Amino acid sequence: MADAALDARLRAAIRDVPDFPKPGIVFKDISPLLQDAALLGEALDALAEAARPLRPTHIAAIESRGFLFAGGLCERLNAGLIPLRKPGKLPWETFEQSYALEYGEDRLEVHADAAGPADRVFLIDDLLATGGTAAAAVTLIRRTGAELVGAGFLIELAFLDGREALHGFPVEALIHYG
Ligand code: AMP
Repeated sequence: MADAALDARLRAAIRDVPDFPKPGIVFKDISPLLQDAALLGEALDALAEAARPLRPTHIAAIESRGFLFAGGLCERLNAGLIPLRKPGKLPWETFEQSYALEYGEDRLEVHADAAGPADRVFLIDDLLATGGTAAAAVTLIRRTGAELVGAGFLIELAFLDGREALHGFPVEALIHYG
């Protein structure tokens, strides 16, 4: 969790966009935060601080907004990067995992040789909502044989109880709503 001063600055740089991408959803737009070099750096520092004690060898990032934080985290932690991608994007042999969306279904894929039993993987995404996306990501990472050592999010919509879908490792979010 971010300290009080950072928490306030992060909140001020995340704007609510009602009814995007569809009616009833309040979209948390992190664009103003991404545009602020100092604040982006501090958010990455705080996420890296949460991950560092878990000694990750790799950061696994969920397409696409997880990618925005993955490079900075890998650089800070001297870790490798594993992209978890939408269907049909990865060129090599993959593992696939479907998950439920509010309406319908989506799928994530990982290269089958992206990690192995010697590896300690920390998962990153911008936002934890119902936890369906992150739970699919966890399943994929474990299928490579790697250990899932923790997960980090910039934002947690706590009222959706997404943490309930994530078991057996620490879950860190810098700011919480609800
Ligand atoms: P969930 O699987 O319900 O935890 O949804 C998490 C994924 O959906 C993340 O990759 C987020 O980027 C995206 N997401 C879900 N809800 C929102 C929201 N209110 N604002 C922005 N992104 C969201």
